Amino acid sequence: MAHLRKRRRRRLNPRFVALCLTAMLLAAGGALWWVNRPLPGEGVALPDYVEEKLLPENPWSRPGTPLKTISGVVIHYVGNPGTSAQANRNYFASLSSGTEGTYASSHFVVGLEGEVIQCVPLTELAYASNQRNTDTIAIETCHPDDTGEFSPVTYDRLVELTAFLCKTFKLNPETEVIRHYDVTGKECPKFYVDHPEAWETFRQDVSAAVTALGEHQGR
Ligand SMILES: [Zn+2]
Repeated sequence: MAHLRKRRRRRLNPRFVALCLTAMLLAAGGALWWVNRPLPGEGVALPDYVEEKLLPENPWSRPGTPLKTISGVVIHYVGNPGTSAQANRNYFASLSSGTEGTYASSHFVVGLEGEVIQCVPLTELAYASNQRNTDTIAIETCHPDDTGEFSPVTYDRLVELTAFLCKTFKLNPETEVIRHYDVTGKECPKFYVDHPEAWETFRQDVSAAVTALGEHQGR
């Protein structure tokens, strides 16, 4: 036994031990970082035109689920002509009672006057885009009439906000800014489903706005 122990001890090369310890420390450090890594939406300073009116946490419109990946922006229309951003924000808040049995929300609502209300933090998922809820930011957009076309002031603000998000999360407007329609086939945002060329123009306008922001970082 004594002889065996001696042989075993001799085999332990100090450099090998040091290497193993270093590898273990690195692995532990990496695992710790992975568990505690910041969410992509953490610490993002939003533009001045965004008014923060967060929904109360509730299972129906703000479940508080961490948004661990942000790989797209999904554009919606509210489908309720003439309603304001505030009215749509209030609707999402009203769902918290659960009496309607409806799950719905959005990170942002862009209004008829170009106002923007934030309903859900960028660190949490919103109930807007079905299977893409877990990795996208949702923007609901108000519109004056049944065609679903956005007014010029609303359109410009939507371009500005979408460009800000593309720049912040390094998203490509040509491929990672999508319609709700592109996820589920739902007629949303209606005008931009009915007029695919208007949608392409929107994406180009977002691209130009990202470039204007100074850091176009497509992937
Ligand atoms: Zn939609």
